[in-house]
Amino acid sequence: MSKFILTLSIIFYSNIGFSNKIFTEDFIKKVEQLRDFAKTDNTAYKLAESLTTEVGHRLGGSSNDIKGVNWAVSKFNELGFDKVYTEPVIFKKWVRGLEQAEVVSPFPQPLKITALGRSFPTTDEGITAEIVHFQTFEDLEKAEDSKVKDKIVFISNRMERQKDGSGYGKANTARYKSAYVTAQKGGVGTIIRSIGTDYHSRNPHTGAMMASITDELTGETHNLTEHELVPAGAISNPDADLLVNMLKRNKPIKIKMTLLSHWGEEYTSQNVIGEITGREKPEEVVVIGGHLDSWDLGTGAIDDASGCAITMATAKLIKDAGIKPYRTIRVVLWANEEYGLDGAKAYAQAHENDMQNHIIAAESDFGAAPIYALSSGVSVDSLAVVKIMAKLLEPLGIIYEGNTGKYGPDIIPLKKNGIATMGLRQDGTNYFDLHHTTDDTFDKIVPEEMAQNVAAWVVFVSLAAEYTGNFGFNIE
Ligand code: ZN
Ligand code: ZN
Repeated sequence: MSKFILTLSIIFYSNIGFSNKIFTEDFIKKVEQLRDFAKTDNTAYKLAESLTTEVGHRLGGSSNDIKGVNWAVSKFNELGFDKVYTEPVIFKKWVRGLEQAEVVSPFPQPLKITALGRSFPTTDEGITAEIVHFQTFEDLEKAEDSKVKDKIVFISNRMERQKDGSGYGKANTARYKSAYVTAQKGGVGTIIRSIGTDYHSRNPHTGAMMASITDELTGETHNLTEHELVPAGAISNPDADLLVNMLKRNKPIKIKMTLLSHWGEEYTSQNVIGEITGREKPEEVVVIGGHLDSWDLGTGAIDDASGCAITMATAKLIKDAGIKPYRTIRVVLWANEEYGLDGAKAYAQAHENDMQNHIIAAESDFGAAPIYALSSGVSVDSLAVVKIMAKLLEPLGIIYEGNTGKYGPDIIPLKKNGIATMGLRQDGTNYFDLHHTTDDTFDKIVPEEMAQNVAAWVVFVSLAAEYTGNFGFNIE
């Protein structure tokens, strides 16, 4: 009899809709307690400290790449994850070399430059040529070939500071495509103003430029050769201002630029994966993570030791709290996001026959500043669960932005496969002051802010892994 009543009450609970009835009161209470505990916990902070101190940068294919992989395997084990394994990621490595630039005439001065990721090298002696200035990438595109021929193109577009980081996408086309358009127009090199909001810092920002084109009709991808791209670098904001001021004197400006970065041989890195096994549906997974690789100028603290640390700590805290989730929590630390998205692509390929078991995916890859909004990318049917998440996130100062479908870069291949997504949106006001520079180091992480991130992630992950329904598949 008592068994019968219990069964009835569970059915009643799971069908009633909102106000916590998808989950038991007891479960919600546990999640609230864990959220509040996470706000004071330093597991993530210690992980980020460990990775940046014991490994440093993790440029894909560099000698530090494997050190990062080994670090992640041993940390997952140390943290008590149920299952720890790696999956191979193969890509061609890109190696940074000497990078120098100077104004030769009419006002000789050195410039702070860094090569854009995937740039081909100049000759060992460097390129010396007159510059032609464009304020935007679109201006370069529109220019007559004769204006660009034999010149070094200089693009001075400035990235705007925005909380949601939306200035990045707008400014970034200059970094991504200019070397290709310059080559098409017969130019010999490209220099851009760094895509960064540190307007008064002399740090140049690196970042990947385009390396292939895809034919829209056939869908075939062609890797661009050194005849189809010119060597390209970014100079710091103040150095871009310096060139703009020189240009006002209406005299030809000659620059010498030496960038010896180049492509190397094929390299095999690893995605590193740690799991907390689900109690009922171990084969179904909630995928979270960050990218393990970083650029080589700093120690890759905000991009993306932070995301790795936040998501690793999230799973660890859930396990330690005794919340044994309905389905598996899978933390993936993706390889070489920065100049290939190779880890994310390899993951989607390795799991292509297993996509239906991917319940939802989310990445932390925007530093360690506080989360201010939740953005879901789920089916309308599962919005009731998202509402409960949002309610539990309110005390952390997080608002529900809507079913706007924002997610990190390593989620792109999963999204293409129809997987539901979640975006825990961090305040990016200052992120692009440091992004891809020598100043991306551990001291910039504020422990309380990082802990707020983990507190938010434990809410999302606990609920997503306990929810017995689906978040939807192939959601537009
Ligand atoms: Zn990143
Ligand atoms: Zn990055």
